[in-house]
Amino acid sequence: MHALERVLNFLQDLQSHLEGTGDLPEPHPIARFALQRTTPHDLQLCTAIVETELELWENSGLHVRPALHPYVAERLGVYTLDDELIGRFLDYPDCCVDYFLDGHTRYDHDPPTTTVLTEGFVPCRATCDRAHRAHLLETTDDPAPYRELERELERALQRLGVPSYHSAYEGFYEIHAPERDRT
Ligand SMILES: [Zn+2]
Repeated sequence: MHALERVLNFLQDLQSHLEGTGDLPEPHPIARFALQRTTPHDLQLCTAIVETELELWENSGLHVRPALHPYVAERLGVYTLDDELIGRFLDYPDCCVDYFLDGHTRYDHDPPTTTVLTEGFVPCRATCDRAHRAHLLETTDDPAPYRELERELERALQRLGVPSYHSAYEGFYEIHAPERDRT
């Protein structure tokens, strides 16, 4: 199971718990954080957002998964709770989580070729195999399909009524070019 499916199951379990038909899902710190900050309506919207992301990404056939939309990420404590806990929840490999915990909080490599990453994920190396297997990183000559998927996602989420987001939000993907190609 990859990270978006896990997050979707988690949100559905949280919904069941709210309705009194299920246990508090693991990891508990994230479940408790979310319950303090979401109404049942918020939770339904979060579920619809992740379902949309999963569906459009699977239809696209692209390797790297999109980042969780900030509406969902904020409500699950992704920017707030313990980095190790969140990293594990989002299926980040240990090598990359350790690199982040060492103080590398943003991408700081010179990739051999253009690289697409899940937005916000920091790989331990320019081409970490484990990150690639976890659908967090891909080197590619043509990142344009990722930008196209981003536009599709934005349109679909607007139709769901997801509030448009603050300027700090940079999209679902990061694209990094080799230094020699930068002007
Ligand atoms: Zn790594």
